[in-house]
Amino acid sequence: MCTVCDRIQETIEGKNRYFVKELETGYVILGDYQRFKGYTLFLCKVHATEIHFLETSS
Ligand SMILES: [Zn+2]
Repeated sequence: MCTVCDRIQETIEGKNRYFVKELETGYVILGDYQRFKGYTLFLCKVHATEIHFLETSS
């Protein structure tokens, strides 16, 4: 588990007040710090430390 997986688990449990929307492959959440108004993040459902470690879809 990592901090992103922890945050996803909190989101699943309804404990993330910054949750926006669940998508097929992940979750959209508002950033903890709004450096820009509306700053959002996409949290992938598959754990990977780097994006290139994710499998490509066909
Ligand atoms: Zn993780």
